[in-house]
Amino acid sequence: MATNEPVKDYAPGSAERSDIVEEIQRLRSSTIDLPMYIGDELRASGEKFDVVEPHNTAQVLGYGFKARREDAQDAIDAALAVSEAWRNTSFEDRASIFLRAADLLADEYRSAIVATSMLGQSKTVYQAEIDAACELIDFWRFNVEFARQLQAIQPLSVPGVINSFDHRPLEGFVYAISPFNFTSIAANLPTAPALMGNVAVWKPAMTQMLSADVIMKVLNQAGLPAGVVNLVSGDGIAVSDVALKHRDLAGIHFTGSTGVFQHLWHEVSQNLTNYRSYPRLVGETGGKDFIVAHRSADPEVTKVALIRGAYEYQGQKCSAASRAYVSASLWNVIKDELVAEIESLTQGDVADFRNFMSAVIDEKSFARNSAVIDRARSASDVSILAGGTYNKDIGYFVRPTLIQSTNPEAEWFTAEYFGPFLAVYVFDDNDFEKVVHQLESVAPYALTGSILAEDETIIEWTSQVLRFAAGNFYINDKPTGAVVGQQPFGGSRASGTNDKAGAIHNLMRWVSPRAIKRNLNPPTAYPYPHMD
Ligand code: NAD
Repeated sequence: MATNEPVKDYAPGSAERSDIVEEIQRLRSSTIDLPMYIGDELRASGEKFDVVEPHNTAQVLGYGFKARREDAQDAIDAALAVSEAWRNTSFEDRASIFLRAADLLADEYRSAIVATSMLGQSKTVYQAEIDAACELIDFWRFNVEFARQLQAIQPLSVPGVINSFDHRPLEGFVYAISPFNFTSIAANLPTAPALMGNVAVWKPAMTQMLSADVIMKVLNQAGLPAGVVNLVSGDGIAVSDVALKHRDLAGIHFTGSTGVFQHLWHEVSQNLTNYRSYPRLVGETGGKDFIVAHRSADPEVTKVALIRGAYEYQGQKCSAASRAYVSASLWNVIKDELVAEIESLTQGDVADFRNFMSAVIDEKSFARNSAVIDRARSASDVSILAGGTYNKDIGYFVRPTLIQSTNPEAEWFTAEYFGPFLAVYVFDDNDFEKVVHQLESVAPYALTGSILAEDETIIEWTSQVLRFAAGNFYINDKPTGAVVGQQPFGGSRASGTNDKAGAIHNLMRWVSPRAIKRNLNPPTAYPYPHMD
């Protein structure tokens, strides 16, 4: 079995730290074109957009190019042109390319992928390391193992009959659309289908272009034939215009917000009669992830789970804790220290390694999160306990904010803001059961959640009541930080199709098995014995 890539710690004096410092200087010293990859062409034409550091918006790192309809058409044509050759390439040859890509990322490209994710997506070095390096290396290595397991699934053969599965890829192309917040997820969306023999058109987020470019370089160097994964950039509207109407759309591999996925699904349904096959729709979407802390929970564990769960990467993880339900007696013990610790969280430029947090991704996110803080400030059910300020003079900075609300039905407990904002509902110790039932379905999402408790009966009971409230459920831990191969990730309800990225479940969506029967003794006369 594959093993997880060890996480480097970038401690002062370490070799990996000096590599990153050097790489950051290199990236900041030039402004590069970030082209589209269409077949074997690098296309840097069309309307340009700036790729900046969200924590220092004056620093332009590169320019992307907004894909037009013709770019989308060319990318689809380039994909379809190589699809036969790619699907006829043996599985082991395809797998070896992704294993080579993993090795390149673990070594030669490690500082490039970490530094570009730091600067382009405002990740601290640790957050970039666990995502862009380790999780992506894991996706590529573990997917190969899971694909082998999938291929080993074969039907029963009996005397005189040999049966087999031919694990065919889908007919057509896969349209992969990725979010800004995880470099690893972005790369996995086109490459998991490609491993199974599919070709892909990949549309990364405009704010992830810097690290997306490194991914394409790694794949090329690893030997992925041109055209298997084609990168088109921009907001995706023109690309969807072409791709969603195309007869050969074989599937959509999406991660991002619920609204966008629902829009894509709707568009597909409108075009249903135009497709050659029913497109596979795989989407991992939004969340309103919870922590429920019973009075028996350890106070220190609760504090750390709340802080790390809610504020790491500025709360921009789909799994980030954004609502917490805390027993009053426990709350009385932790409240003051929790508030003081949140107020002391360091925030700023990711190149200053002392920072725990940095900026939110863009103007849109800053506007959304500052508006939430403003609404909270004037809401009668809310007290702001920590943070509650924002400033975009240099970058899109929103302070880690903790609010307490007396209304568990309020928007703070139901809406996804995707920022450093945690709402707490404090309940009477005797109301635990009532609160768990209430939180189960107050939000439309079902992605991640945690129960913090020392009492085993409580853990059992809560886990049962919340069985459908989260696709990833944690006991005495924060609800973030899923590791490939250990906690396969995905949620249901408005959080997605729960096809578990980095697991056999996901890879199954990218094959269309053909069952083959070989009869060793075919009958030579048609009548049956009962006819005698
Ligand atoms: P988003 O939905 O705004 O954008 C996602 C991608 O869709 C981007 O590449 C965007 O350009 C593209 N897009 C938007 N409209 C499109 C269209 N009509 N055609 C083609 N592409 C289009 O999401 P985001 O802000 O990048 O990411 C944050 C969201 O992603 C949050 O809701 C978060 O919960 C979710 N997310 C979920 C998971 C998960 O595993 N469930 C993981 C990461 C992020």
